[in-house]
Amino acid sequence: MTGYLAMGAAALLALAVVVYDRWRTSRIVRRLDDMLTATMNGSFFEETFDESRLSSLESRLARYLTASALSERNVREQKDQISALISDISHQTKTPVANLQLYAQLLLEQPLTLREKDCAAAISTQAEKLQALIEALVKTSRLETGILALHPRPGEISTVVERAAAQYVPRAKGKGVALTVGQADGSAVFDPKWTEEAVCNLLDNAVKYTPSGGTVTVEVKNYELFSAIRVADTGPGISEEDQARIFGRFYRAPNAWQAEGVGIGLYLTRQIAEKQGGYVKVESTPGKGSIFSLFLPRP
Ligand code: ADP
Repeated sequence: MTGYLAMGAAALLALAVVVYDRWRTSRIVRRLDDMLTATMNGSFFEETFDESRLSSLESRLARYLTASALSERNVREQKDQISALISDISHQTKTPVANLQLYAQLLLEQPLTLREKDCAAAISTQAEKLQALIEALVKTSRLETGILALHPRPGEISTVVERAAAQYVPRAKGKGVALTVGQADGSAVFDPKWTEEAVCNLLDNAVKYTPSGGTVTVEVKNYELFSAIRVADTGPGISEEDQARIFGRFYRAPNAWQAEGVGIGLYLTRQIAEKQGGYVKVESTPGKGSIFSLFLPRP
């Protein structure tokens, strides 16, 4: 009898141990799960979890998550500081750059020698270039940090192509370059405002680098997954070596020095394409021309 009682007590004890163990394990799993959830939604802080009550596994995970949440916060703060700094630079340089342009214009209205006139005109051009550079830097930094967000939605590409082309017809005409719009029908998922800016960058380059008597054609090609806006020109073309570099920030091919520019247009165009699930491709034969294609995902 005593033997049965002892066996029963032992069985009960074993059962209690198993139940307790299960309860403890599921409590730890639940708390680990809470920690991971809190980390994923950005609300994990050391103080959220009481160190003294944590098991060794939990406390190691808590230490790891605390360190990673801290470094994420640091990265976010640094990004905010950089973008605030860029905004400050843009804001604070506006007046001096505008003044530079104004004084250069005033100088140009004075009776000057030819050499003096050239110098005043160069000051004005450089001030304009500085202004464009600052604006481009602010734009790219805002895109990179996500302050400026793209809003892609399904739409017709022809509107964007026609609006962009219309802006460059006068400049092309003035230069003796024939700018034509070919087949432009197609639909894709894109942000109209930013996509227009990207197409304008491609057209700006095509018109700028194509000499008088050349042609620039913009058209849309539709593929299974993407629609491509193709800007083809009969300009100087780009060597294979440079094709890999021209999308970098501030890169300008050695033969581009005569044309105005700061080397940021294609970098920005690639950013715009990638932020809406697309990409940019270049095909070129030096001496014959270039084709830049902006691929946009189809709906
Ligand atoms: P930018 O035109 O201001 O120099 P981009 O970033 O738009 O800057 O272009 C980078 C470089 O790529 C240019 O400096 C030029 O060397 C080359 N490039 C771009 N488009 C063309 C083109 N259509 N034909 C020849 N070269 C081009």
